[in-house]
Amino acid sequence: MTNSQQGAGDGTRAVRAGLPEPVKHEPTLPGPVFAAHFHLPGDPTGPYTYGRDENPTWTHLERAIGELEAPGRDGVETLVFASGMAAISAVLFSQLSAGDTVVLPDDGYQVLPLVRGQLEAYGIEVRTAPTGGDAQLDLLDGAKLLWIETPSNPGLDVCDVRRLVEAARARGCLVAVDNTLATPLGQRPLELGADFSVASGTKQLTGHGDVLLGYVTGGDASAMASVRRWRKLVGAIPGPMEAWLAHRSLATLQMRVDRQDATAQLVAEALRDWPEELGVRYPGLPGDPSHKIASQQMRRFGCVVSFTLPTRARADRFLDALRLVDDATSFGGVRSTAERRGRWGGDAVPEGFIRFSVGAEDPEDLLADLRQALEASAR
Ligand SMILES: *Cc1c(COP(=O)(O)O)cnc(C)c1O
Repeated sequence: MTNSQQGAGDGTRAVRAGLPEPVKHEPTLPGPVFAAHFHLPGDPTGPYTYGRDENPTWTHLERAIGELEAPGRDGVETLVFASGMAAISAVLFSQLSAGDTVVLPDDGYQVLPLVRGQLEAYGIEVRTAPTGGDAQLDLLDGAKLLWIETPSNPGLDVCDVRRLVEAARARGCLVAVDNTLATPLGQRPLELGADFSVASGTKQLTGHGDVLLGYVTGGDASAMASVRRWRKLVGAIPGPMEAWLAHRSLATLQMRVDRQDATAQLVAEALRDWPEELGVRYPGLPGDPSHKIASQQMRRFGCVVSFTLPTRARADRFLDALRLVDDATSFGGVRSTAERRGRWGGDAVPEGFIRFSVGAEDPEDLLADLRQALEASAR
Protein backbone atom coordinates (compact mmCIF):
# COMPACT_ATOMS: atom_id res chain seq x y z
CA MET A 1 0.00 0.00 0.00
CA THR A 2 1.35 3.40 -0.89
CA ASN A 3 -0.08 6.67 0.26
CA SER A 4 -0.10 8.56 -3.00
CA GLN A 5 -3.71 8.05 -3.97
CA GLN A 6 -3.88 9.99 -7.21
CA GLY A 7 -7.15 9.54 -8.99
CA ALA A 8 -8.73 7.82 -6.00
CA GLY A 9 -12.19 8.78 -4.80
CA ASP A 10 -12.76 11.32 -2.02
CA GLY A 11 -13.34 8.73 0.68
CA THR A 12 -10.23 6.79 -0.25
CA ARG A 13 -8.12 9.94 -0.29
CA ALA A 14 -9.62 11.17 2.99
CA VAL A 15 -8.84 8.01 4.98
CA ARG A 16 -5.21 7.92 3.77
CA ALA A 17 -4.50 11.64 3.38
CA GLY A 18 -1.11 12.65 4.69
CA LEU A 19 -0.18 9.25 6.15
CA PRO A 20 3.53 8.44 6.10
CA GLU A 21 4.76 5.35 4.26
CA PRO A 22 4.16 2.28 6.41
CA VAL A 23 7.02 1.32 8.71
CA LYS A 24 6.99 -1.97 10.56
CA HIS A 25 5.96 -1.53 14.21
CA GLU A 26 5.07 2.12 13.72
CA PRO A 27 1.45 3.37 13.98
CA THR A 28 -0.53 4.25 10.88
CA LEU A 29 -0.91 7.86 11.98
CA PRO A 30 2.01 8.74 14.27
CA GLY A 31 0.96 10.35 17.55
CA PRO A 32 1.39 14.05 18.31
CA VAL A 33 4.99 15.17 18.74
CA PHE A 34 5.23 17.48 21.74
CA ALA A 35 8.47 19.36 21.28
CA ALA A 36 9.52 22.96 21.77
CA HIS A 37 12.91 22.09 20.28
CA PHE A 38 14.61 19.16 18.59
CA HIS A 39 18.11 17.72 18.95
CA LEU A 40 20.24 19.91 16.75
CA PRO A 41 24.00 19.49 16.96
CA GLY A 42 26.15 21.57 14.64
CA ASP A 43 24.75 23.83 11.96
CA PRO A 44 21.00 24.42 12.39
CA THR A 45 19.55 22.63 9.37
CA GLY A 46 15.90 21.60 8.99
CA PRO A 47 13.42 20.16 8.80
CA TYR A 48 12.93 20.19 12.58
CA THR A 49 14.78 22.77 14.64
CA TYR A 50 12.43 24.80 16.81
CA GLY A 51 8.76 24.16 17.54
CA ARG A 52 7.48 27.51 16.28
CA ASP A 53 8.90 26.87 12.81
CA GLU A 54 8.09 23.22 12.10
CA ASN A 55 6.66 20.15 13.79
CA PRO A 56 6.32 16.61 12.35
CA THR A 57 2.64 16.45 13.38
CA TRP A 58 1.97 19.58 11.31
CA THR A 59 3.89 18.10 8.39
CA HIS A 60 1.54 15.09 8.22
CA LEU A 61 -1.53 17.29 8.52
CA GLU A 62 -0.26 19.79 5.95
CA ARG A 63 0.33 16.98 3.46
CA ALA A 64 -3.15 15.64 4.14
CA ILE A 65 -4.87 18.97 3.57
CA GLY A 66 -2.76 19.55 0.44
CA GLU A 67 -3.84 16.17 -0.97
CA LEU A 68 -7.48 17.15 -0.46
CA GLU A 69 -7.22 20.77 -1.68
CA ALA A 70 -5.10 20.05 -4.74
CA PRO A 71 -5.03 16.31 -5.49
CA GLY A 72 -2.32 15.21 -7.88
CA ARG A 73 -0.83 18.67 -8.21
CA ASP A 74 2.87 19.27 -7.61
CA GLY A 75 4.39 22.38 -6.10
CA VAL A 76 1.48 23.07 -3.76
CA GLU A 77 2.28 23.91 -0.17
CA THR A 78 0.02 23.95 2.90
CA LEU A 79 0.69 25.74 6.18
CA VAL A 80 -1.41 25.15 9.28
CA PHE A 81 -2.27 27.85 11.81
CA ALA A 82 -3.76 28.22 15.26
CA SER A 83 -7.16 29.27 13.85
CA GLY A 84 -8.92 30.32 10.68
CA MET A 85 -8.33 33.96 11.59
CA ALA A 86 -4.60 33.31 12.01
CA ALA A 87 -4.55 31.85 8.48
CA ILE A 88 -6.61 34.70 7.00
CA SER A 89 -4.47 37.36 8.68
CA ALA A 90 -1.31 35.57 7.55
CA VAL A 91 -2.30 35.86 3.89
CA LEU A 92 -3.58 39.43 4.08
CA PHE A 93 -0.79 40.88 6.19
CA SER A 94 2.03 38.97 4.48
CA GLN A 95 0.92 39.90 0.95
CA LEU A 96 -0.10 43.52 1.49
CA SER A 97 1.81 46.59 2.56
CA ALA A 98 1.18 50.33 2.79
CA GLY A 99 -0.07 51.75 -0.49
CA ASP A 100 -1.49 48.42 -1.75
CA THR A 101 -5.17 47.86 -2.46
CA VAL A 102 -7.22 44.82 -1.45
CA VAL A 103 -10.78 43.90 -2.44
CA LEU A 104 -12.84 42.21 0.29
CA PRO A 105 -16.44 40.98 0.41
CA ASP A 106 -18.76 43.18 2.48
CA ASP A 107 -20.88 40.17 3.50
CA GLY A 108 -18.16 37.77 4.60
CA TYR A 109 -17.09 36.34 7.94
CA GLN A 110 -18.00 38.68 10.78
CA VAL A 111 -14.39 39.43 11.78
CA LEU A 112 -13.54 40.86 8.33
CA PRO A 113 -14.68 44.39 9.29
CA LEU A 114 -12.14 44.33 12.15
CA VAL A 115 -9.49 43.13 9.72
CA ARG A 116 -10.47 45.95 7.40
CA GLY A 117 -9.86 48.51 10.14
CA GLN A 118 -6.42 47.05 10.80
CA LEU A 119 -5.49 46.97 7.11
CA GLU A 120 -6.51 50.63 6.78
CA ALA A 121 -4.54 51.54 9.89
CA TYR A 122 -1.48 50.11 8.08
CA GLY A 123 -2.12 52.30 5.03
CA ILE A 124 -3.70 49.62 2.84
CA GLU A 125 -6.70 50.68 0.74
CA VAL A 126 -9.71 48.40 1.23
CA ARG A 127 -12.56 48.20 -1.28
CA THR A 128 -15.63 46.08 -0.58
CA ALA A 129 -18.55 44.68 -2.57
CA PRO A 130 -21.14 41.96 -2.00
CA THR A 131 -20.40 38.34 -2.94
CA GLY A 132 -23.52 37.69 -5.04
CA GLY A 133 -23.46 38.72 -8.70
CA ASP A 134 -19.63 38.89 -8.79
CA ALA A 135 -19.81 42.54 -7.69
CA GLN A 136 -16.13 42.49 -6.71
CA LEU A 137 -15.33 42.35 -10.42
CA ASP A 138 -15.76 46.11 -10.79
CA LEU A 139 -13.21 46.97 -8.10
CA LEU A 140 -10.13 45.14 -9.39
CA ASP A 141 -8.26 47.90 -11.20
CA GLY A 142 -5.02 48.54 -9.34
CA ALA A 143 -5.73 45.90 -6.68
CA LYS A 144 -2.97 43.60 -5.41
CA LEU A 145 -5.22 40.97 -3.80
CA LEU A 146 -8.81 39.86 -4.25
CA TRP A 147 -10.38 38.08 -1.27
CA ILE A 148 -13.38 35.87 -2.03
CA GLU A 149 -15.61 34.02 0.40
CA THR A 150 -17.89 31.59 -1.41
CA PRO A 151 -20.38 30.46 -0.23
CA SER A 152 -20.45 33.47 2.08
CA ASN A 153 -21.06 33.05 5.79
CA PRO A 154 -23.85 33.49 6.82
CA GLY A 155 -25.74 34.71 3.72
CA LEU A 156 -24.80 31.72 1.48
CA ASP A 157 -24.30 33.83 -1.63
CA VAL A 158 -21.75 32.56 -4.12
CA CYS A 159 -19.57 34.17 -6.75
CA ASP A 160 -18.03 32.77 -9.91
CA VAL A 161 -14.45 32.00 -8.87
CA ARG A 162 -13.17 31.25 -12.40
CA ARG A 163 -14.60 34.49 -13.76
CA LEU A 164 -13.16 36.58 -10.92
CA VAL A 165 -9.78 34.85 -11.19
CA GLU A 166 -9.63 35.56 -14.91
CA ALA A 167 -10.33 39.25 -14.36
CA ALA A 168 -7.85 39.43 -11.48
CA ARG A 169 -5.11 37.63 -13.45
CA ALA A 170 -5.47 40.12 -16.30
CA ARG A 171 -4.63 42.86 -13.76
CA GLY A 172 -1.80 41.02 -12.00
CA CYS A 173 -3.94 40.67 -8.88
CA LEU A 174 -3.63 37.63 -6.58
CA VAL A 175 -6.78 35.75 -5.54
CA ALA A 176 -7.51 34.07 -2.20
CA VAL A 177 -10.66 32.05 -1.52
CA ASP A 178 -12.03 31.40 1.96
CA ASN A 179 -12.99 27.73 1.55
CA THR A 180 -14.30 27.19 5.08
CA LEU A 181 -17.93 26.58 4.28
CA ALA A 182 -17.36 24.29 1.30
CA THR A 183 -14.42 22.25 2.68
CA PRO A 184 -11.94 20.85 0.13
CA LEU A 185 -14.44 18.09 -0.67
CA GLY A 186 -17.01 20.68 -1.67
CA GLN A 187 -14.78 23.02 -3.67
CA ARG A 188 -11.14 23.21 -4.78
CA PRO A 189 -10.23 26.86 -5.24
CA LEU A 190 -6.76 26.14 -6.68
CA GLU A 191 -8.32 24.14 -9.51
CA LEU A 192 -10.59 27.11 -10.17
CA GLY A 193 -7.45 29.22 -10.60
CA ALA A 194 -7.05 30.86 -7.18
CA ASP A 195 -3.58 31.45 -5.71
CA PHE A 196 -4.60 30.59 -2.15
CA SER A 197 -7.25 28.44 -0.56
CA VAL A 198 -7.61 29.60 3.04
CA ALA A 199 -9.91 28.10 5.63
CA SER A 200 -10.92 27.66 9.19
CA GLY A 201 -10.39 24.01 10.09
CA THR A 202 -12.50 24.67 13.18
CA LYS A 203 -15.71 23.98 11.26
CA GLN A 204 -16.66 21.01 9.08
CA LEU A 205 -13.08 20.08 8.18
CA THR A 206 -12.50 18.71 11.68
CA GLY A 207 -16.21 18.49 12.48
CA HIS A 208 -16.31 17.68 16.19
CA GLY A 209 -16.40 21.16 17.70
CA ASP A 210 -13.28 20.51 19.77
CA VAL A 211 -10.43 22.05 17.79
CA LEU A 212 -9.51 25.52 16.54
CA LEU A 213 -7.39 25.37 13.40
CA GLY A 214 -6.66 27.21 10.18
CA TYR A 215 -4.70 26.59 7.01
CA VAL A 216 -3.43 28.19 3.84
CA THR A 217 -2.83 26.13 0.70
CA GLY A 218 -1.07 27.83 -2.21
CA GLY A 219 0.77 27.10 -5.41
CA ASP A 220 2.93 30.22 -5.66
CA ALA A 221 6.22 29.43 -3.93
CA SER A 222 7.27 33.01 -3.23
CA ALA A 223 3.84 34.04 -1.94
CA MET A 224 3.80 30.97 0.32
CA ALA A 225 7.30 31.80 1.58
CA SER A 226 5.91 35.14 2.83
CA VAL A 227 3.00 33.37 4.49
CA ARG A 228 5.45 31.01 6.19
CA ARG A 229 7.58 33.94 7.33
CA TRP A 230 4.47 35.57 8.77
CA ARG A 231 3.62 32.42 10.75
CA LYS A 232 7.13 32.41 12.18
CA LEU A 233 7.08 36.03 13.20
CA VAL A 234 3.55 36.11 14.62
CA GLY A 235 3.77 32.59 16.06
CA ALA A 236 0.09 31.78 15.48
CA ILE A 237 0.81 28.06 15.40
CA PRO A 238 -1.45 25.10 16.21
CA GLY A 239 -0.56 22.90 19.17
CA PRO A 240 0.59 19.38 18.25
CA MET A 241 -2.48 17.89 19.94
CA GLU A 242 -4.84 20.07 17.88
CA ALA A 243 -2.97 19.23 14.69
CA TRP A 244 -3.15 15.52 15.46
CA LEU A 245 -6.87 15.63 16.35
CA ALA A 246 -7.51 17.46 13.08
CA HIS A 247 -5.64 14.84 11.09
CA ARG A 248 -7.52 12.05 12.85
CA SER A 249 -10.80 13.77 11.97
CA LEU A 250 -9.91 13.99 8.27
CA ALA A 251 -10.27 10.22 7.95
CA THR A 252 -14.04 10.61 8.36
CA LEU A 253 -14.35 13.82 6.32
CA GLN A 254 -16.06 12.28 3.33
CA MET A 255 -18.53 10.31 5.48
CA ARG A 256 -19.38 13.34 7.58
CA VAL A 257 -19.66 15.73 4.67
CA ASP A 258 -21.80 13.36 2.59
CA ARG A 259 -24.13 12.64 5.48
CA GLN A 260 -24.40 16.22 6.71
CA ASP A 261 -24.75 17.78 3.26
CA ALA A 262 -27.41 15.27 2.18
CA THR A 263 -29.43 16.02 5.31
CA ALA A 264 -28.90 19.77 4.79
CA GLN A 265 -30.53 19.38 1.39
CA LEU A 266 -33.55 17.72 3.07
CA VAL A 267 -33.70 20.43 5.74
CA ALA A 268 -33.59 23.13 3.06
CA GLU A 269 -36.38 21.44 1.12
CA ALA A 270 -38.51 21.07 4.26
CA LEU A 271 -38.06 24.78 5.02
CA ARG A 272 -38.83 25.73 1.42
CA ASP A 273 -42.03 23.65 1.49
CA TRP A 274 -43.14 24.94 4.91
CA PRO A 275 -46.49 26.81 4.72
CA GLU A 276 -44.88 30.04 6.00
CA GLU A 277 -42.46 31.92 3.73
CA LEU A 278 -39.08 31.52 5.48
CA GLY A 279 -36.68 32.93 2.92
CA VAL A 280 -34.58 29.77 3.03
CA ARG A 281 -31.13 29.92 1.45
CA TYR A 282 -29.14 26.83 0.42
CA PRO A 283 -26.92 26.59 -2.65
CA GLY A 284 -28.22 23.07 -3.32
CA LEU A 285 -31.84 24.21 -3.77
CA PRO A 286 -32.60 24.49 -7.51
CA GLY A 287 -34.50 27.75 -6.98
CA ASP A 288 -31.76 29.40 -4.91
CA PRO A 289 -29.96 32.45 -6.38
CA SER A 290 -26.64 30.65 -5.66
CA HIS A 291 -27.57 27.38 -7.31
CA LYS A 292 -26.39 27.93 -10.88
CA ILE A 293 -22.84 29.06 -10.10
CA ALA A 294 -22.59 26.67 -7.14
CA SER A 295 -23.44 23.74 -9.43
CA GLN A 296 -20.62 24.76 -11.77
CA GLN A 297 -17.86 25.10 -9.20
CA MET A 298 -18.89 23.07 -6.15
CA ARG A 299 -18.95 19.30 -5.77
CA ARG A 300 -21.09 19.41 -2.62
CA PHE A 301 -23.21 22.25 -1.27
CA GLY A 302 -22.32 22.33 2.42
CA CYS A 303 -24.07 21.66 5.71
CA VAL A 304 -25.29 25.18 6.47
CA VAL A 305 -28.84 26.29 5.72
CA SER A 306 -30.11 29.76 6.53
CA PHE A 307 -33.63 31.09 6.88
CA THR A 308 -35.51 33.95 8.47
CA LEU A 309 -38.28 33.77 11.04
CA PRO A 310 -40.59 36.80 11.18
CA THR A 311 -39.39 38.20 14.51
CA ARG A 312 -36.58 37.95 17.02
CA ALA A 313 -39.00 36.56 19.63
CA ARG A 314 -40.14 33.82 17.26
CA ALA A 315 -36.54 32.94 16.46
CA ASP A 316 -35.69 32.69 20.16
CA ARG A 317 -38.75 30.50 20.80
CA PHE A 318 -37.77 28.30 17.85
CA LEU A 319 -34.23 27.81 19.18
CA ASP A 320 -35.60 27.04 22.67
CA ALA A 321 -38.01 24.47 21.24
CA LEU A 322 -35.36 22.47 19.37
CA ARG A 323 -34.36 19.31 21.25
CA LEU A 324 -31.66 17.81 19.05
CA VAL A 325 -30.01 21.05 17.98
CA ASP A 326 -27.74 23.03 20.28
CA ASP A 327 -28.03 26.81 20.39
CA ALA A 328 -24.39 27.56 19.67
CA THR A 329 -22.25 29.42 17.21
CA SER A 330 -19.79 27.92 14.71
CA PHE A 331 -20.94 25.23 12.26
CA GLY A 332 -19.96 22.02 10.54
CA GLY A 333 -19.97 19.73 13.59
CA VAL A 334 -21.48 16.26 13.77
CA ARG A 335 -23.97 17.63 16.32
CA SER A 336 -26.42 20.05 14.75
CA THR A 337 -26.28 23.63 15.96
CA ALA A 338 -28.31 26.72 15.18
CA GLU A 339 -28.22 30.31 16.25
CA ARG A 340 -29.94 33.64 15.78
CA ARG A 341 -27.11 35.25 13.92
CA GLY A 342 -28.25 38.80 14.69
CA ARG A 343 -27.34 38.34 18.36
CA TRP A 344 -23.68 39.09 17.52
CA GLY A 345 -24.43 42.39 15.78
CA GLY A 346 -21.71 41.85 13.16
CA ASP A 347 -23.71 40.59 10.16
CA ALA A 348 -26.20 42.55 8.05
CA VAL A 349 -29.03 40.08 8.67
CA PRO A 350 -32.65 40.43 9.89
CA GLU A 351 -33.37 39.91 13.61
CA GLY A 352 -35.09 36.56 12.93
CA PHE A 353 -32.25 35.20 10.74
CA ILE A 354 -31.23 31.65 11.71
CA ARG A 355 -28.00 29.96 10.65
CA PHE A 356 -28.64 26.24 10.91
CA SER A 357 -25.73 23.81 10.79
CA VAL A 358 -26.82 20.28 9.97
CA GLY A 359 -25.06 17.49 11.84
CA ALA A 360 -24.89 13.73 11.46
CA GLU A 361 -28.12 12.83 13.29
CA ASP A 362 -30.64 10.60 11.53
CA PRO A 363 -32.37 12.82 8.97
CA GLU A 364 -35.88 11.79 10.03
CA ASP A 365 -35.14 12.68 13.68
CA LEU A 366 -33.73 16.04 12.73
CA LEU A 367 -36.59 16.87 10.36
CA ALA A 368 -39.15 15.92 13.01
CA ASP A 369 -37.39 18.15 15.53
CA LEU A 370 -37.26 21.03 13.06
CA ARG A 371 -40.98 20.70 12.29
CA GLN A 372 -42.07 20.51 15.93
CA ALA A 373 -39.93 23.56 16.80
CA LEU A 374 -41.38 25.57 13.91
CA GLU A 375 -44.89 24.65 15.05
CA ALA A 376 -44.29 25.17 18.77
CA SER A 377 -42.63 28.56 18.21
CA ALA A 378 -45.55 29.79 16.06
CA ARG A 379 -47.97 29.49 18.97
C1 LIG B 1 -15.20 30.57 11.39
C2 LIG B 1 -14.75 31.21 10.14
C3 LIG B 1 -13.52 31.87 10.07
C4 LIG B 1 -12.62 32.02 11.27
O1 LIG B 1 -12.14 30.81 11.72
P1 LIG B 1 -11.62 30.58 13.24
O2 LIG B 1 -11.10 29.19 13.20
O3 LIG B 1 -12.83 30.77 14.11
O4 LIG B 1 -10.59 31.61 13.51
C5 LIG B 1 -13.16 32.41 8.86
N1 LIG B 1 -13.94 32.34 7.77
C6 LIG B 1 -15.14 31.74 7.80
C7 LIG B 1 -15.98 31.69 6.56
C8 LIG B 1 -15.58 31.16 8.98
O5 LIG B 1 -16.78 30.58 9.01
